[in-house]
Amino acid sequence: MIPFSPPRIDDKIIEEVNDTLRSGWITTGPKTKRFEKQLAEFSGMQKVLCTNAATTGLELILRWFGVGPGDEVILPAYTYCATANVVIHCGARPVLADSKKDHYNLDPSSVANAITHRTKVIIPVDIGGYPADYDEIRDIINSHHNLNRFSPGSAMQEKLGRILLLSDAAHSLGACYKGRPAATAADIAVFSFHAVKNLTTAEGGAIALNLPDQFDHDDLYKTLNIMSLHGQSKDALAKSQVGNWRYDVLMPGYKANMTDIQAAIGLVELNRYKDDSLKRRETITDQYNAGFSNEERILLPQLKDGDTISSFHLYQIRIQDADEEQRDRIIEEIFKQEVSVNVHFQPLPLLTYYKNSGYRMMDYPHAFNLYQQEISLPVYYNLSDKNVKTVIAAVKHAVSKIMGE
Ligand SMILES: *Cc1c(COP(=O)(O)O)cnc(C)c1O
Repeated sequence: MIPFSPPRIDDKIIEEVNDTLRSGWITTGPKTKRFEKQLAEFSGMQKVLCTNAATTGLELILRWFGVGPGDEVILPAYTYCATANVVIHCGARPVLADSKKDHYNLDPSSVANAITHRTKVIIPVDIGGYPADYDEIRDIINSHHNLNRFSPGSAMQEKLGRILLLSDAAHSLGACYKGRPAATAADIAVFSFHAVKNLTTAEGGAIALNLPDQFDHDDLYKTLNIMSLHGQSKDALAKSQVGNWRYDVLMPGYKANMTDIQAAIGLVELNRYKDDSLKRRETITDQYNAGFSNEERILLPQLKDGDTISSFHLYQIRIQDADEEQRDRIIEEIFKQEVSVNVHFQPLPLLTYYKNSGYRMMDYPHAFNLYQQEISLPVYYNLSDKNVKTVIAAVKHAVSKIMGE
């Protein structure tokens, strides 16, 4: 069976993790701090704080920005549930916007229509690793009308003076937006290092900061670091220094710190990310593109447009004219040929909690059409050229079988 996206765990990773275990320091410490610095450099962001997941990173930012009851946060119907769940945790309301007609990412005009005086944050998601339309969304945020009706409800909202542009960059570390690192197009980007993501730390995430000049990024880093660790004035490493036992609690904080065991994996992964992992992913997607080029019924994903380039996290094909049931049968046929595939994602209105909360799938027609024809193919470092060929043959066979010759 060809798996969907196993992590790349080799001797290098195991040695670095062993080194951490033997060092006697296994929670947040020197390796996490080194990983943060290297991530900031790589992503072009001013400051990075590592967390135990992207989900907690997103929630910390919403809490820091003072998002709560009565507030609205705009995000795509077409995303993983984490993007919306954190908004619910804060007591605010997720307002869903539709995808573009032929692309999973947010449709800026749908975002514009969803803004009200209650909107505090917009969370574009770089689906599959392809950057959202940040410039268009930023222009909408900065329009006269939207600046005027923005009504700050916290000190940080007052200080920013507009809607926060927060990127759910769970898929897109290493992507390019108009020639620069994609994360820099947002005010804040949150990466995920979950086991299936492009770069993994088993579980983990990072908050990357790029706010306007009125924010002091060193101060903000300290605040978020304290928020991520119970509100304690000192972290474990500082407390372990001789005689430095006393600490204070400044707020009822969260528990969201990354451990050095995770950072050890991340350091190895990041070191080989750009020139090795991403290159291999790109080659695999090129092979898929070539393999499906003569198949009119298989619509290929957009991965490049000039100097906007995906991080090649997902290879999402669509089966032209397929309905949901046909797509499901095609997937069954592919699995019968010992190839694992996936669907990214079931739009939120299809999921019980969101359906019961009153979100209706018919209000997001593009998202539904994309979903019902979507299949994600395996992309991972150790997927061999031979296995890529097997996947291509399996998909073609399944499509012919279900959709007809
Ligand atoms: C994986 C994922 C997340 C959550 O990441 P965790 O690190 O598992 O919390 C959030 N958003 C999207 C789009 C994801 O795919």
